[in-house]
This record gives sequence, C-alpha cells and structure tokens, in this order.
Amino acid sequence: MLTLQCPYCGVQADETELAPGYEAHLKRYGPGSSPEEFESYMFARKNPKGVHFERWRHAYGCGKWFLAARDTNTLEVFGTYPAQSSAPPADLVAKIKLKRPEWEGYK
Ligand SMILES: [Zn+2]
Repeated sequence: MLTLQCPYCGVQADETELAPGYEAHLKRYGPGSSPEEFESYMFARKNPKGVHFERWRHAYGCGKWFLAARDTNTLEVFGTYPAQSSAPPADLVAKIKLKRPEWEGYK
C-alpha cells in the first residue's frame, strides 16, 4: 500500500485517504500557443517505470494538494513537497540521485 506524508499537516496518509492528481509539473500553454502544444498539455503524459513526480490531494485529511516523488516500480517514496513548487526541491533531487544513480534527473 502506498503511504505518503502530507507536507502540510504531517500525517502519514495511506492511499485510501488520498486522491490522485496524476503527473506533476505540467507546463501549461495559454492563448497564442500552437495546437500541438495545447494538445500535448491536455493529453500527453509520462508513464515511466521508475522515478515519477505526481500530484496528490489529502482528500480525507486537510484537503490540500501536494506533490510526491516516488518510484512507480517499487512504490518507494522519496519525498513530498508543497504543490506550489514549480520544480522538485534540490535536496529531494539529490536524494533520488543517491538512491537511483541511473536516473537521468528531473526534466
Ligand atoms: Zn494533509
């Protein structure tokens, strides 16, 4: 079972308390963008076997959105951080690189 620590209230929440928000750090395209960019934003998602950054909501707790880095293959959770972050925190990226030297890094 997946367990994530909510970065706001500190609760170790299992997945029955959480609602998935899918991929984190999507680049949004607004007016003036090309149809291909908008289509990519709407439909193209990464589905890696390994390190992945995701959005989650503590639906049956504080109700806030947060982001999590985890391994989709092993379910190992590397960390969680506030949803307002535009990129993963540097200390979290360093922690992931220590555990997964083959990881190509956050793009
Ligand atoms: Zn919470």
